[in-house]
Amino acid sequence: MATVFDRLDATLELPEHETMVLGAVRQLARDVVAPRAADYDRLEAYPADNIAAMNALGMNAMFVPEEHGGLGLSYSVYLACVREVSKACASTGIIWATTFHGMKPVMDFGSPELKQRILPRIAEGAIGALCITEPSAGSDATGMKTRFSPDGDDVVVDGGKIFISNGDVADHLLVFGKWAGIDDPKAAITALVIDKGTPGLAVLRKEEKMGHRAAPTVALSFDGLRVPRANLLGGPGEGLRILLASLNKSRPSVAAHALGIARAAFEDAVDYINERRQSGRRIVEFQGIQFTLADLATDLAMCENWLWRVARMVESGATDFGVEASMLKMRATDLAMRISDEAVQLHGGYGYIRDYRVERLMRDAKITQIWEGTNQIHRQLIGRHFVRK
Ligand SMILES: Cc1cc2nc3c(=O)[nH]c(=O)nc-3n(C[C@H](O)[C@H](O)[C@H](O)COP(=O)(O)OP(=O)(O)OC[C@H]3O[C@@H](n4cnc5c(N)ncnc54)[C@H](O)[C@@H]3O)c2cc1C
Repeated sequence: MATVFDRLDATLELPEHETMVLGAVRQLARDVVAPRAADYDRLEAYPADNIAAMNALGMNAMFVPEEHGGLGLSYSVYLACVREVSKACASTGIIWATTFHGMKPVMDFGSPELKQRILPRIAEGAIGALCITEPSAGSDATGMKTRFSPDGDDVVVDGGKIFISNGDVADHLLVFGKWAGIDDPKAAITALVIDKGTPGLAVLRKEEKMGHRAAPTVALSFDGLRVPRANLLGGPGEGLRILLASLNKSRPSVAAHALGIARAAFEDAVDYINERRQSGRRIVEFQGIQFTLADLATDLAMCENWLWRVARMVESGATDFGVEASMLKMRATDLAMRISDEAVQLHGGYGYIRDYRVERLMRDAKITQIWEGTNQIHRQLIGRHFVRK
């Protein structure tokens, strides 16, 4: 019997070739990625097999434009695939999505030469990273200290980044820093692509984390690193505009990732309480439990609906959708935390035991409320929208 979520997924109305792609990704996620997720989490190991399997399917090509060796598929099908992979393994999902987050700005703002050099490699499976955060620059990115100094045809990079997803495995890193000689902290921000193996680029430490244990998060240092000026995105000082526009496209993606975790937790909870019996009844038959299910299912359906609405705005070429993207990121990630917490609760003591996936889902959900702008920052962005000048 079709559930309300099957009917909601059917409203996506993708063209036939994208429906086939989504079907293949769904099968890969279910049969290959999901069975390995618990082991990768336990071992805190990079899921190289999963990434190889996704590359064998050509998944990066999905979001790279055709003129650069990709398939140029829709943003909707990309988001649907992020959700499927993240439902199977949140670590693998964020590794894949991070390549999109780091490389989409290259597609939107890179010079023709830069795009032609980098994007065909991405389409074939190269990995990307997005480097913004520093010890002095978290919620307020304008506090960054990484310095870009022009020197002939090169830019010399000094500084470092922390908490960088994919930072140790990325082939191309999109790095934000400040252009030497521009004093205004916002006007100085500039974006530059750094390639793996550039002398002066080093991994300082790898973090041990609560969740997403298979997805690497590292601190990087840049020590007199020389990069061709041709690797700049836009000109010196154009970074903040690029950063804000890019975050609007990565936030729906982190929302889709969180909704994958939320779906997995909801489905596990429903399966469990339909089987587990206490006081002579299945847990699902207690009305107090049905009220919880009703609230979670309704909020999940509303939030997924908003995901597809924002996706259609992006596809229509809209540029003014920052509030919608913030609403989506905030609500989807709060919901992933709430549903995974309730799923643990509905499993009783078993929910706290590693044998059950909900234990991992709850650990994986927490960071989604923190990265890509904490949810306090998103509340601030949404609230400010209504303050009249
Ligand atoms: C696993 C992981 C992966 C990550 N991946 C990446 C990555 O790939 N690239 C990257 O650049 N960064 C990445 N980050 C960094 C992440 O985006 C930051 O941690 C996040 O933006 C918050 O910054 P902060 O940790 O410095 O917290 P802070 O900014 O110090 O905030 C601390 C607390 O204060 C609150 N706060 C701050 N300012 C305000 C305000 N104005 N109003 C109300 N409350 C406020 C915050 O909401 C938070 O609760 C990652 C982090 C982690 C843990």
